Amino acid sequence: MAALSNYDLRIELIDTCRRMNASGINQGTSGNVSVRVPEGFLITPSGIPYETMAPEQVVLMDLDGGYFGDFLPSSEWRMHMDILRHHADAVAVVHTHSVYATALSCLRIGIPAFHYMIGIAGGPDLRCSDYATFGTQALSETMLTAMKDRTACLLANHGMICYGDSLAKALWRAVEVETLAKQYFVARQLGEPVILSDAEMTGVLARFKSYGKQASELKPGDAPAVEMPVHRSA
Ligand code: 13P
Ligand code: ZN
Repeated sequence: MAALSNYDLRIELIDTCRRMNASGINQGTSGNVSVRVPEGFLITPSGIPYETMAPEQVVLMDLDGGYFGDFLPSSEWRMHMDILRHHADAVAVVHTHSVYATALSCLRIGIPAFHYMIGIAGGPDLRCSDYATFGTQALSETMLTAMKDRTACLLANHGMICYGDSLAKALWRAVEVETLAKQYFVARQLGEPVILSDAEMTGVLARFKSYGKQASELKPGDAPAVEMPVHRSA
């Protein structure tokens, strides 16, 4: 039998699935995860519990819709493949049925800039797609429209999907999206949240680009996320 390709990434992908459920943003075998590899991408198999998932059950697919091995890929392989094809910066994709994001998606409500953290979706809002049956090309197409110039979107009457430049970053973004959905849901119980202006969000998005970077990594003209305090020598 041929050696299993990308063994460490298969382990990392399974670990990401288990963390996804442990964090409370997904349950059971709902949701799915993928990660780019030189041959195409690795994706969770369909309907197999994450607790028992083994590296050989993770499915290798190419970017033309072909799969290798004995296990069927996630029913949502089309969404994962299309994100990896259309978003050059996407390395990993996470899809979940997290409770608050799903609740908003059932009302077909996207999330506006009620909080500056909406910038983690790559723009001044987080859209909700139209409805299409799970696992279909139609769902993938409406998802791509909702995700234009964004790294995440809600999926009508279904859940949410997002991507990142690593498995850890995609899972981080999924948790942030669910947190925003919950905060927005709660705020709307009390009234209509004040929405931040496009000008404010343009500034926030510029600062986000340097968030997490050290002073030495900033380029001239970068908007610093940390307004520089005076640097004292010890
Ligand atoms: P899979 O087990 O086929 O990945 O399905 C889960 C899901 O969320 C479908 O939308
Ligand atoms: Zn789903």
